[in-house]
Amino acid sequence: MELADMVWPRKCGVCGMSLHAGERYVCGSCLADMPLTYFWSWRGNPAERMLWVRTYLQGVVPLFYYSNDNDYRKLLHLVKYGGDTALGCRLGCMLGEKMREADYPVPDAIIPVPLHWLRRWRRGYNQAEVIALGVSEGLSGGQTPEIPVLTDILHRIRYSTSQTRMSVGSKWENVSGAFVLKDVKKAADRLNGLHVLLVDDVLTTGATVEACWDALRVIPGIRVSYASIAFVSRPG
Ligand SMILES: [Zn+2]
Repeated sequence: MELADMVWPRKCGVCGMSLHAGERYVCGSCLADMPLTYFWSWRGNPAERMLWVRTYLQGVVPLFYYSNDNDYRKLLHLVKYGGDTALGCRLGCMLGEKMREADYPVPDAIIPVPLHWLRRWRRGYNQAEVIALGVSEGLSGGQTPEIPVLTDILHRIRYSTSQTRMSVGSKWENVSGAFVLKDVKKAADRLNGLHVLLVDDVLTTGATVEACWDALRVIPGIRVSYASIAFVSRPG
């Protein structure tokens, strides 16, 4: 047992049991039972069909299903509100590894969905950025340089209230037009004709993805895919 474990025993983020040696963040049993989407091997998956109504995304790959009746939602809460950036990075890395193993088209760059500066300042970090760094690590498979994570392309111009308890309709109004390119010319020069992977924590209605897509689509020849940790398959 490591010294840190004696002082502060490490617990599984899903079931709360103490972790054994070699286990990190999630115990072996919860890891084995994780409700993975397998969307990295499923062209035309339900998340893609949902987003293709309003966007031209190349692909959509969430890691696991989020639902109120399973405890895996706790992982997302730890990453989003609990300050557990290491867990966010680990889950992102896990997703990147799954994509790499499935020969998923490798993006040229990764763009985390930005937070408004005030929210980022209050939280101390952007959870999407932490996840994006993990995805880059997993996709790169130990090869350097890793896929660049770009935080100077998209800018969130509106501070919106928390979406957690909002209805589907108001979520749409809440983020539409919320994102712009920080510098249109610079973004066009940098990403012209490239494949970009947009990364966020959770995919619910797709409103946030669509708002980001609206900002990115002006870049000539850009192709955009999307990845997230969780997918709410029945938003409401
Ligand atoms: Zn567990």
